Amino acid sequence: MNIPWLESQRQRIEQALVRQRLGHAPLFCGPAGLGKLELAEWLMARLLCLAPVDQAPCGTCRSCELLASGGHPDSFRLRIPEEKKEIPVDSVRQLISSLQLTPRIGPHRVGLIEPAEAMNRNAANALLKTLEEPAENAWLILVSHQPGQLPATIRSRCQKIVVRPPDDDQATAWLADRHAGVTPADRERALALAAGAPLAASDLLESDGLDFGQRILNGLLQVAQGGPVSAAVGDDWLARPDLTWRWLAVWMAAFMRQSQGLPGTELPDQVALPRPVSAKRLAGLWERTLAGRQMADTAVRHDLLMGKWLLEWARIFPSGQ
Ligand SMILES: [Zn+2]
Repeated sequence: MNIPWLESQRQRIEQALVRQRLGHAPLFCGPAGLGKLELAEWLMARLLCLAPVDQAPCGTCRSCELLASGGHPDSFRLRIPEEKKEIPVDSVRQLISSLQLTPRIGPHRVGLIEPAEAMNRNAANALLKTLEEPAENAWLILVSHQPGQLPATIRSRCQKIVVRPPDDDQATAWLADRHAGVTPADRERALALAAGAPLAASDLLESDGLDFGQRILNGLLQVAQGGPVSAAVGDDWLARPDLTWRWLAVWMAAFMRQSQGLPGTELPDQVALPRPVSAKRLAGLWERTLAGRQMADTAVRHDLLMGKWLLEWARIFPSGQ
């Protein structure tokens, strides 16, 4: 694991483990893109390693090798199955029965659920029993981007480990190191879009995340100049509603700052709206992007929601101005 902002936290976990103060059901929580999963995977490797070196997984024992190859008989991963939106109860039951068997390689069996909030109600209930009466050698590691969505009964039986974003300087330096070929402005934009989460910002820079944002901005400007709303919402807007709403929020926030004469790095040079717009109106639209984003994973009609949002946007710019 090489994530500088998690290093001190990793050491604390390690110390708790050595002093036997780490519960058998740690819950890693915090926003996406901070490295919670990496930390959880490190703990899994540490628990399974047969000969830790300096309290870290050795990387060379049979257990470490099996884990790296993905075929460790005492390690179990639970994710959202492909083409599903949640972790079903059957998968959880299977995990529970696997964890109850005697370890095959080392002293522990370890299950890792990510993201834990994707368990549906029945799945969470099935897990509850295991958390109440854990098998002696079993560890259950939970990773959650939105722990508030987990039943309180689950949360209260886990040992919460909160992962926080690094400070801006550390995040910027890390991103610059990994994306030396990208302009500082683009890196800052990605970091702002990712709410300061460096891994998420890095993903945006690696995918076409920034170009996508530029296309959304172009669509907004076209509508502001009197272009048709129907032409602005592209298929790509609807293919990734979460990212679309996030970009709309970024651009609204950037226009708000511009309207108040505040400095901001998100807007590309010389991008300006055809007429001044009050920050209050922009704030109203910004709030609606947050509402849209909260529904990103639901079956709501985003084409209708985005169409309505854009109509509101268009109304700010009466034609001919
Ligand atoms: Zn090892």
